[in-house]
Amino acid sequence: MIDNQQPITVGIVGLGLIGGSLGLDLRSASKNLTVIGVSRSEATCKTAVEIGVADRASIDLTTLSAADIVFLCTPIDRIAPTLERIVPYLSPTAIVTDVASVKVPIVRECSQLWTNFVGGHPMAGTERQGIAAAQKGLFAGSNYILTPTETTSKNAINLVKLIIGLLNVRIYCCSPEIHDRAVACISHSPVMVSAALIAAFRGETDVSVLNLAKQIASSGFRDTSRVGGGNPELGLMMARYNRDNLLRSLVQYRQHLDEIIDEIEAEKWDKLALILQQTQEFRNHIFGDKT
Ligand code: NAP
Repeated sequence: MIDNQQPITVGIVGLGLIGGSLGLDLRSASKNLTVIGVSRSEATCKTAVEIGVADRASIDLTTLSAADIVFLCTPIDRIAPTLERIVPYLSPTAIVTDVASVKVPIVRECSQLWTNFVGGHPMAGTERQGIAAAQKGLFAGSNYILTPTETTSKNAINLVKLIIGLLNVRIYCCSPEIHDRAVACISHSPVMVSAALIAAFRGETDVSVLNLAKQIASSGFRDTSRVGGGNPELGLMMARYNRDNLLRSLVQYRQHLDEIIDEIEAEKWDKLALILQQTQEFRNHIFGDKT
């Protein structure tokens, strides 16, 4: 593996939850790997080195000239502009990847800016943000999707796979289009559905009901509200950059919700039971006996 090979230098731009966690895990996974962090703030650079996110960190983009591979870990709308800014300093053989939750627009723009670009999306996260949110083992056991295109070089894909393989993740490859449709179903639309659920709770007009509900809210509401209570900036970016797929998913959701409302209004309990039985079966089919 990587320990028997030449040393590899990894650049990470944007030392927040994902960039910071990536640095922590990559550094502890291999001694042959050096992590250079790039941040917009000196204070974050200092913290990054102190907590072990990077071997060295700087606000100076020229430090990236030493990188064999660069992970772009900024907000979605800053991925392509960040790549544009770092291009003059990259080694001609450097491979660039990103971690953004949306792939079609990112891959389209970034592939134009840098030939050796491989789109990526680690499917792990928390509701926190910034360097203080960086945590060891964030990615372990999770899925990591790569979205190479027909023109992406095998060499670039292989190096990205080699590095992310150190994170103990399951790696999937698919087109950016399939990725964006799939994440609209399982990640982006749940954020909006969950946000609507929180808004409905918040809109309860009877103060005594609202107060009691706040006090007794536990695992059920905690689970269903988790993704809607996350980083608002990230939710907004998902909606802006994966708009069409998200809308398709939400419209389908609204149709199913309307159907459930109709069955309850009409007291068609057999039909409601059938819906709930089918959803239970489908969820079991996806997760098995994992809760
Ligand atoms: P985050 O904690 O806010 O980190 C993003 C980092 O990007 C910031 O800490 C900052 O780092 C830098 N940044 C912020 N604004 C910037 C700007 N205007 N220009 C340049 N750099 C800027 O967010 P995150 O959750 O790590 O998300 C980063 C990326 O990971 C996003 O593209 C997101 O789609 C993707 N992602 C997130 C999750 C999740 O659950 N959170 C999961 C998978 C993928 P410095 O202060 O060091 O410059």
